[in-house]
Amino acid sequence: MTLPSASSLSFPAASSCRLCPRRCGAPRTPQEGRGRCGMPSFPVIARAALHTGEEPCISGTRGSGTVFFSGCPLGCVYCQNGPISHGRYGRAVSPSRLAEIFRELEAQGAHNINLVNPTHFVPAILASLELYRPAVPVVYNSSGYERVETLRLLEGAVDVYLPDLKYADDALAARLSHAADYFAYAGPAILEMARQTGPMALDGEGIARRGTLVRHLLLPGHTRNTIAVLDWLQEHRTDGLWVSLMFQYTPVNPKPPEPALSRRVTLRECRKVWDALLERGLTDGYVQDRRSAAAAYIPDFDLTGVERADASRRTPSVVPDQGAGK
Ligand code: SF4
Repeated sequence: MTLPSASSLSFPAASSCRLCPRRCGAPRTPQEGRGRCGMPSFPVIARAALHTGEEPCISGTRGSGTVFFSGCPLGCVYCQNGPISHGRYGRAVSPSRLAEIFRELEAQGAHNINLVNPTHFVPAILASLELYRPAVPVVYNSSGYERVETLRLLEGAVDVYLPDLKYADDALAARLSHAADYFAYAGPAILEMARQTGPMALDGEGIARRGTLVRHLLLPGHTRNTIAVLDWLQEHRTDGLWVSLMFQYTPVNPKPPEPALSRRVTLRECRKVWDALLERGLTDGYVQDRRSAAAAYIPDFDLTGVERADASRRTPSVVPDQGAGK
């Protein structure tokens, strides 16, 4: 497999970033970023460790080798990973260190390398994969707010896509994620992901080797949005998409823009959308137990696995801690 060369991606990006649908055109250097995501071009990471909070075909029995990237181009008001997405807590590392992290996670027994919220670091990730290509699948775990042009750079590098499809309602996307164009981008992005991977393929242990698994989180008070998302997924079933319907919403924002976001989803709401899922024949995938508490899925963002265990081997290219709230 040949990956796009880092040089062909103009990495490290010096100006005019247009990687995601925000298309800020902002300058980004390895140490600094002035765009909507606020991130430099070197990847900023809050944690790199085995994680068992994903779907069974991702977490398996040993855990997913999960790299939590900091910053976010989307910025949802109910984000469950606020300290790293909004707060931007993390540490910037060089692409060579990220390649080492992939190797270390694999050595720990990871079923895959799971890149969480990677959109704004695609060129650096590709540079890292050029340096070290893991033997286990590479999972691209994203908000779904993606440009098809950026996803095409990942063809051949990513084995499994794990995108959200958060909204089919533009007004809701504008209110909760400041992205009225969310669905206009996420729909084509998911079809591009499915084109690249083909239908879901599992190995003998039930771990995804290839495929696209679309996640949707039911928001309290918004069953209609969920049903519209399911309608779209039914329409595109032939693309071999799997679906993960999630009920783990937990209120974390003390001042949400609407009162319903201060509570968890009700049993009645869960039953309504579960019925809708079954009526549409979307039976490939997962439905989450309503009793799942989101807090149980949120790991400590404490820089675990980010730096080398042997600090004396640190490279000078690692830039300083970005720090919470930067
Ligand atoms: S990745 Fe960041 S800097 Fe680049 S276009 Fe998106 S928000 Fe702007």
